Amino acid sequence: MHKKELLHAGKVKAIWATADPDLCIAEFSDRITAGDGLKKADLPGKGRLLNQISALLFTRLAEAGVPSHFIRTLGDNAMLVRKAQLLPLEVIVRNRTAGSICRRLGLGPNIRIEPPLVEFYYKNDALHDPLLTRDHIAMLALVTAGEYEEIKEQALAVNQVLRKTFAEAGLELVDFKLEFGRAQGSILLIDEISPDTCRLWIQGTTASLDKDRFRNDSGDVLAGYREVLQRLQGTAKQ
Ligand code: UDP
Repeated sequence: MHKKELLHAGKVKAIWATADPDLCIAEFSDRITAGDGLKKADLPGKGRLLNQISALLFTRLAEAGVPSHFIRTLGDNAMLVRKAQLLPLEVIVRNRTAGSICRRLGLGPNIRIEPPLVEFYYKNDALHDPLLTRDHIAMLALVTAGEYEEIKEQALAVNQVLRKTFAEAGLELVDFKLEFGRAQGSILLIDEISPDTCRLWIQGTTASLDKDRFRNDSGDVLAGYREVLQRLQGTAKQ
């Protein structure tokens, strides 16, 4: 399967058309960004790690009955995915407090959130991705009421599977971001799941192996990502 025209160039990923109108190629670059794209760097080898980690997690989700756009990896830095119409939403699931919820609600970090919290943000760089209520989503007609429920349900199902997967690897899934699209009239999990989009702490500690190392200049980013992959592979079913 070969790349045709460029459909979408994101800050760190590119989506390419293929000869099959229902399939695309998602390509991971070595770029890392934070703070609305203001902080950026190139970390050689990062794209390959993210591709491998995302593929492994999408495969685990599929095994657990949670579908996504992922079909298979294509070489080191790319994956073949089902084509979907991107919804302008970032869906965040939180199991513990960290990051923006602490700043927004004046909470300390590392407080358990039970049941897990699902938040919707407007994927809009010019507006800095504002938090959306359910009524905002209806007002903007971003998704239907049924799609909203479907996305929330899928996000919680992803959380259940990923929490267990990471726990078996000795990692705590603190929070993460998902994106969804529409494919053949249904809601479909798309994008990536990786240490760029998850907070992952070594179990029983707040030692971070994820993008917070880059955000806070608090350690070797690639070493953290490599450790996430190795831990996941250590528990991989043969
Ligand atoms: N996240 C992401 N992309 C975004 C915003 C957040 O992948 O544009 C992830 C982030 O890595 C974390 C979770 O979503 O795992 C929650 O992020 P938060 O709202 O706390 O924002 P932050 O403080 O990280 O900017």
